[in-house]
Amino acid sequence: MRKVMNKMNMNWMILALLAVTMTAVAQQSASAPQNPQPVAATQPDQTASQPSQTQSGQAQANLAPPTTMDQVVDRVIVEEKELIKFLSPRTPIVETYLQNLTQDPQLGPIPQDDHYFLGRMDLSQSIDRSDFLKGKDDGMEKHLLGEFTKKFKFQYQPLGFSWMIFADRTDFDRQHYNFHYVRREFLGDVRCLVFDLTPTKDAGRGRFLGRIWVEDQNFNIVRLNGTYAHPSRNSYYFHMDSWRLNLVPGYWVPSYIYSEEGDFTAGAKNKIAFKAQTRMWGYNLKTATANDELTNIRVDSVKDSTPTAQDATPLAAEREWQQQAEDNVVERLERAGLLAPAGDVDKILQTVVNNLEITNNIDLPRPVRTRVLTTSPLETFSVGNTIVVSRGLIDVLPDEGSLAMVLSHELAHIVLGHNLGSQYAFNDRMLFSDEVTYQNLGFKHIPEEETAADKKAIEMLKASPYAQKLDSAGLFIKALQARAPQLSALLQAHLGNNITENGMVTRMAALATSAPALDWNKLDQIAALPLGARVKLNPWDDKVEIVKAQPVAITSARDKMPFEVTPFYPRLTRYSTASAPASSTTAALPTAATTADASPTPTN
Ligand SMILES: [Zn+2]
Repeated sequence: MRKVMNKMNMNWMILALLAVTMTAVAQQSASAPQNPQPVAATQPDQTASQPSQTQSGQAQANLAPPTTMDQVVDRVIVEEKELIKFLSPRTPIVETYLQNLTQDPQLGPIPQDDHYFLGRMDLSQSIDRSDFLKGKDDGMEKHLLGEFTKKFKFQYQPLGFSWMIFADRTDFDRQHYNFHYVRREFLGDVRCLVFDLTPTKDAGRGRFLGRIWVEDQNFNIVRLNGTYAHPSRNSYYFHMDSWRLNLVPGYWVPSYIYSEEGDFTAGAKNKIAFKAQTRMWGYNLKTATANDELTNIRVDSVKDSTPTAQDATPLAAEREWQQQAEDNVVERLERAGLLAPAGDVDKILQTVVNNLEITNNIDLPRPVRTRVLTTSPLETFSVGNTIVVSRGLIDVLPDEGSLAMVLSHELAHIVLGHNLGSQYAFNDRMLFSDEVTYQNLGFKHIPEEETAADKKAIEMLKASPYAQKLDSAGLFIKALQARAPQLSALLQAHLGNNITENGMVTRMAALATSAPALDWNKLDQIAALPLGARVKLNPWDDKVEIVKAQPVAITSARDKMPFEVTPFYPRLTRYSTASAPASSTTAALPTAATTADASPTPTN
């Protein structure tokens, strides 16, 4: 095995350091007059806003570049309305993962319990809600969301977390808002104009209060940060930091929202303390209609590749049947936005699977494929010869050894012939709406098969290049065990077997016994990473890629944040038709851990 020296990011640490304050805006008078400031006539970048260069949407093509700040604000309002119109027929998937916090004297705020929401958002406000998960957390939703639910209709509950995809869906204009220009600022590669927004005196309740960043070529909002004013009694608006990405020409698509509440200063009396990440994806999924459901299902997925013109033998027929089931499931999950299209992350996973296979002389009639589930909960399953691992699980794995541990369990199921899912070779079983995917598909093994797979997996690991790296895999299990009682939502598998049972890690638990002692205070011991540390999901086309960022040194135990939620801080770039630079797909999962000793931070 080639050693991977290219150390992986600790981008979550950057995130933690760049905490954004949002109190400044409160000092501004709500009745302050609009504050137009002229744009300097000598702007060197005026040519940059020519439509021919940006290939932007139609709305922007006919507009002259604004020459005053007043005109800029007008453009911002026009572009925001254009975005609302552009997105109105779409029903992206919305996932919110929330951790309630408690104060640990050593580690700071750590998770106390957690909640998970997955659904589809209706951006046209015309269809009923549709959750993927049934009957969960209604109480908390009412407790936290107050009056959001009365005013706005989304398919997704709790919509509060996704509310700040727009500043104000209905009344984003000068009658309701004062725009106060603050300064220019770069977010990533994108130069932005920064405005503070305050509701006008008579704007009414529930208006955005905070800051917006507007890119300075087409004047789209790329980030919103703030809250809503003014809550009525018994209701609560939490604070949000909302990011958009330029994933299609001319539009910046709402992608990530971070929410956080809580005050852990001495003597503070906070009622709620939580951190929550909301991710949106699946914007470009075809909205399925009853007709699509029927026409999209193809029965020709099994291609006759045998040169002979003979009928299949019974065993060959059995294998073809299993592959048909596998293809059906993969296609159906992808269409529901729950499975990322095949891509570079799969190649990394496949490298590890190949390493396990070669060193164990495993020769399967069909190659094992790997795919990434787009969701956060930590789970894996396999169907036919396809191993599926969730984005969240890849995120938190500290190194390649622990990834090998995860994959070896599913590979063992395949090697042992624990085949599940042949019923899905019948295409009628694929005819359901996306929202009931979890009710219609399932790949849970019986306990005996789980035990047998663990045993076989450990056997394979010990014969593989990962034999020397099982300490870190064992440490990961110990870290998971330490947090499992507080993370029941993150550990609730929706398609495969749970990794834990009643708060105890069961999957591959034997590896923990030989691992070193878990010590949160040991800075060079990175047992598990925060969510979002590894995998980046493209909200438009659902493709996944490995996060590339410079490692950031860990300086205290609080920097580790295993399995935790952090703010988002994407590096913004403008849409480009040029394909991204080829990533190093030959390398397997890079090492994420770095410590102050091992890797000093750059001084600039
Ligand atoms: Zn299993």
